[in-house]
Amino acid sequence: MQALRPEPAGEIRRVAYMGGLLLAIPVILATWLVQYEQPFVRWVYPWFALLCFQWAWRLQRKGDLSRIEAEVLWSVGVLFLLKMAHGFFWGDLRANWVEIEGSYWVMAFVMILAYIVFPPRQGFWFSLALMLVTLLLGLLRLVPEVLAGNHQQEFLAFLRGQMRLVAMGGLLYLLALLKDHLAHAHQQVAQMHILARTDPLTNLPNRLALSERLEAESQQMHGLYVVLLDIDRFKQINDRFGHAVGDEVLREVGRRLRGSLRKDDMLGRWGGEEFMIILRGDSQHDVLAAMERLREDIVFWPFEGVGTVSASFGVAEGHLGDSIHHLLERADRALYQAKQLGRNRVELALG
Ligand code: GH3
Ligand code: MG
Ligand code: MG
Repeated sequence: MQALRPEPAGEIRRVAYMGGLLLAIPVILATWLVQYEQPFVRWVYPWFALLCFQWAWRLQRKGDLSRIEAEVLWSVGVLFLLKMAHGFFWGDLRANWVEIEGSYWVMAFVMILAYIVFPPRQGFWFSLALMLVTLLLGLLRLVPEVLAGNHQQEFLAFLRGQMRLVAMGGLLYLLALLKDHLAHAHQQVAQMHILARTDPLTNLPNRLALSERLEAESQQMHGLYVVLLDIDRFKQINDRFGHAVGDEVLREVGRRLRGSLRKDDMLGRWGGEEFMIILRGDSQHDVLAAMERLREDIVFWPFEGVGTVSASFGVAEGHLGDSIHHLLERADRALYQAKQLGRNRVELALG
């Protein structure tokens, strides 16, 4: 399962990382100056500041975000493992314990980041690697000491720190799985929502989607136009060329209509070989002219293997105090009239 990450969030993350890195670089340099006498800080921190600088540079140059995220997390993980190893194996263990304890907290923080940034499986391996290496370091250093009767306190603190990491890692893994599961379910629901509103033959919105749009548009009936269009003598096309060819004619009519309409105009399949257009217009004249163009788009170019196909259009205009029910009735009546008057024409409903 892939973690779902919407793209606009990518830009926010990029800016947040830039801010974080630009803050981190002076902090690292200041620590380097203040704790210069510590060999670890003296030798490792300048390199880390340099790494941070090149990440900030790549982020600013719009470099691959996921790759930079992975590099940052692994580097911070390795840095604090080194710091921990340094605390365990160089100098006095008791004096170093604050530093080791601090590294444990940073590890926990890095684990949280890993689960935010990586998919759950990768987050799991990352956390496991951190936990195993810290466990190994602690055991190597402390078991011989405890066997010799030293550092009991530190050993207990080490076990507590380790338990904390394991508990946190487990909880984060479960949460990440749950998040992924929910995202997947959410995606499925969204997919089903689209599927339930799409006509499988033409890939256009279906009657349900059209009805919902009409319902939404009913808030402002003034300036709303509904057009019903029906392919002329479609039964003959089916009878002469077969149902499959009839299907292709329906698809092609859908494509031609969609190609000629504006982005905000809604075109859908109302049922059978009837389509509906829902649009807003400033004047009857403009809408009728647009429908004339659509009629020509269908009748002007022959359909492959079929020849000339035409359609009849019934246009109804909404007005104040109108209802969707009456608007549809008028569009239907106008369509009937277009058929009566000989087909291949656009008729406007009166009233
Ligand atoms: P008119 O000019 O009066 O509209 O004549 P018509 O032949 O188009 O008449 P009518 O609207 O009654 O015929 C519709 C035909 O469309 C009947 C039906 O078999 C066919 N039809 C409906 N849905 C589909 C479909 O999905 N695919 C195909 N190939 N045919 C369909
Ligand atoms: Mg028909
Ligand atoms: Mg019909």
